[in-house]
Amino acid sequence: MSIETISLSGRKKLVSHKEMSFLERMYLLAIVKGMIITIKHLFTRKVTIQYPEVVRERSPVYRGQHQLKRDEQGRENCTACGLCALSCPAEAITMTAAERKPEEKHLYREEKYASIYEINMLRCIFCGLCEDACPKDAVYLTTSKELVASSYEREDFIYGKDKLVMPLDIAMKNAQLNNAN
Ligand code: SF4
Ligand code: SF4
Repeated sequence: MSIETISLSGRKKLVSHKEMSFLERMYLLAIVKGMIITIKHLFTRKVTIQYPEVVRERSPVYRGQHQLKRDEQGRENCTACGLCALSCPAEAITMTAAERKPEEKHLYREEKYASIYEINMLRCIFCGLCEDACPKDAVYLTTSKELVASSYEREDFIYGKDKLVMPLDIAMKNAQLNNAN
């Protein structure tokens, strides 16, 4: 078999070099064919949606934006053990551990905490393995429908504690709800 006739995909078409007829040069048939395809699409079900006005229904196992949890006293759960970073297949998590000072007991639950905790959202594949690996119930993926905001700057996709740590008022509200139940 010559190299010209080999087609790995099986879709190879030989280019015809025969001269076009007058009718073919008018492209009328090609235009009509194209219009038929376009008109056909007007009557088929749309696969696109008008996001963000319309939000597609998510799967029950949908995993959205990460959050670093606080305990019922509003203290950060994370102890900077690094297991989430180790389990991350995309190597998206980095952190710096620090030792808690006596006057910081109301801020951090454990003696060690993450002074810096960052997730690179350009790398993250929202697999949830960090959540599974965490022994302190500190990081989890929320069901937030807001995905990572678009930006032209790479730095905007490095989410630090300012974006990841659960807001204190929400932590306190959750604690109140848990106590009431
Ligand atoms: S969700 Fe997956 S990819 Fe994203 S930070 Fe966690 S472990 Fe890494
Ligand atoms: S989020 Fe969990 S697994 Fe990751 S460093 Fe903090 S305590 Fe460890």
